[in-house]
Amino acid sequence: MILPEYDNQCGWYELLNNVSSFPPLEDQATFHTVVIGGGFVGNAAARRLAENLPDEPFLLIDALKIGQGASGRNSGFVIDQPHKRELELSSDAHKAKIVRLNRTAIEYFETQIDKYGIECQWSKAGKYQAAVGERGEKHLANYEHLLKQGNEVYHRLSAEEMRNVFGTDYYSAAIYTPGGMLMQPAALMRGLADNMPSNVRVVEETPISEIERTGTGFVLTANNGAKVRCRHIILATNIFTPELGFMRNRILPVMTFASMTRPLSEAEMSVYGGQTDWGLTPADHAGTTVRMTQDRRLIIRNSYRYAHDYNTPAHLLPKMKLRHREGFLARYPHLKDVEFEYTWGGASGLSGNFETFFGKVEEGVYASCCDQSVGAARGTISGMMLADMVAGRHGQLLQDMVEVSGNPSWLPPKIFLRVGVPLRMQMARFASRSEL
Ligand SMILES: Cc1cc2nc3c(=O)[nH]c(=O)nc-3n(C[C@H](O)[C@H](O)[C@H](O)COP(=O)(O)OP(=O)(O)OC[C@H]3O[C@@H](n4cnc5c(N)ncnc54)[C@H](O)[C@@H]3O)c2cc1C
Repeated sequence: MILPEYDNQCGWYELLNNVSSFPPLEDQATFHTVVIGGGFVGNAAARRLAENLPDEPFLLIDALKIGQGASGRNSGFVIDQPHKRELELSSDAHKAKIVRLNRTAIEYFETQIDKYGIECQWSKAGKYQAAVGERGEKHLANYEHLLKQGNEVYHRLSAEEMRNVFGTDYYSAAIYTPGGMLMQPAALMRGLADNMPSNVRVVEETPISEIERTGTGFVLTANNGAKVRCRHIILATNIFTPELGFMRNRILPVMTFASMTRPLSEAEMSVYGGQTDWGLTPADHAGTTVRMTQDRRLIIRNSYRYAHDYNTPAHLLPKMKLRHREGFLARYPHLKDVEFEYTWGGASGLSGNFETFFGKVEEGVYASCCDQSVGAARGTISGMMLADMVAGRHGQLLQDMVEVSGNPSWLPPKIFLRVGVPLRMQMARFASRSEL
């Protein structure tokens, strides 16, 4: 069985101060529902369960410290718009539902951040989508067309505006949409876990290794031997779900990598010439995501690999760092003395047919997975709606959630994926080679 591992490399997590401590599970206890996995899905599910059923006890349990998994390792965009394939391929009604669901997740984050004073660089910074060269511009024109179709507010930047925000002339075109948020993901995940309602017990560094069905529910065994009983299980375990025996051959684990610089000095900020607190995603899907944080760190994210081994192989990081360096210097040759302080990888769950999964897997077992790598908003609203499903609360949002979700297709055996997926990724990288 492959379990999540933490490699001490993720910049977001490593920069946290005073990380709280939730003790591992050691006793035997009984809960109404156990939420396995403390990422976006699990965090939201546990809180909403506690709100729905304030007199019942719940357990939120993670194999790692909360914030060390993918939800604490991402680029920190909380996107309100449908993304990539969902934007390109789905109907207007489908897209409107996704926007409504994502915006509900954003409101949920804002409520918790305000209520508990969570310091996580949360910002209504919006999102830039930027193009490099002819191929990127073609993708951007299509994006603009889709935004127009959806009556979404956006702004096309002039060359001067791009230079003033991004501090580089690297991009040939860019579009700004105001709805997206930026945040420090590990800080957000810790802040949410630290402020769980009192009927949620949080347990960390305790992987669940076995799920056994009994007459009235389940017995879960942790790999330290501790056991818990419950009536319902929410699997918020993302790409690790098949390791617990569910959604086998349906989740495609894909890893991407990021590097973060040290903070720019005052003098380097004037050489840079751009703003702080912005984030751009590439118009061309295989391109590079770039962020400038509130604390003056630049982040470069690109490259994909088929993550058959789920966790980040340490030997790949130096190669990824070099690739990020190339992308960084292409954009910021004037900042050549600014080194990367951290480089890390993280894996998301995709599916073969771009469908996400949400709902009941079998009696008493619920899951959300294959979020196609936009889990901040989508995972959060999925977790909330799974909690409503478990509590028997059926509203419009839950109905919309069911309607925008689907059935991830069966994937070929791993042995074929290990050849086929890297080949497709290499082809995509070659096609997008004009952007470093
Ligand atoms: C580099 C990178 C950049 C990204 N950028 C963005 C972005 O900007 N915006 C965005 O929306 N999305 C982004 N994503 C995707 C996003 O991070 C994921 O979609 C999201 O984190 C998935 O959330 P989750 O709750 O489903 O899973 P996870 O965050 O993976 O949580 C699953 C949890 O389950 C735990 N677990 C697994 N197995 C067990 C077990 N047996 N017992 C106990 N616990 C277990 C794991 O430790 C983990 O904490 C990015 C991803 C990466 C890697």
